[in-house]
Amino acid sequence: MTSDFEAQLRSASLRVTRPRLAALAALRDHPHVDTDTVIALVRADNPTVSHQTVYDALRAFTEAGLVRRIQPAGATARYESRVGDNHHHVVCRSCGAIADVACAVGPAPCLTASDDHGFVVDEAEVVYWGTCPGCATERRATDPRSSEGNR
Ligand SMILES: [Zn+2]
Ligand SMILES: [Zn+2]
Repeated sequence: MTSDFEAQLRSASLRVTRPRLAALAALRDHPHVDTDTVIALVRADNPTVSHQTVYDALRAFTEAGLVRRIQPAGATARYESRVGDNHHHVVCRSCGAIADVACAVGPAPCLTASDDHGFVVDEAEVVYWGTCPGCATERRATDPRSSEGNR
């Protein structure tokens, strides 16, 4: 597995370092994590790695297209190594949980611009906002209105 990451770094003309390999492994195992989580995961095996090293690695990965940076409005940036398929995300408004949604198909939800203003469109960014199952369950358990409704 490590050699895959080495090959990825080399093909992107990036220097192969232990922290970078660890960061790629962390993103493979933990999709949609923020910078702090990547730092914690890298440090689990490489305790001396600095924040700056991880920041720099994530920026280099993103610029090289090895990693995709997603930033839902009002949320901290997250990173994932699933790139190239333009998949979308569903985000929980309560806890910030994120899950992948395959690329939308068909006419809805408006991935074909009704007026592209002459632009060559190559990407539509779609974020599906809602409440994750965990938060929905919790809300039902704690919301006084829902218990009133049960009486
Ligand atoms: Zn949630
Ligand atoms: Zn994703």
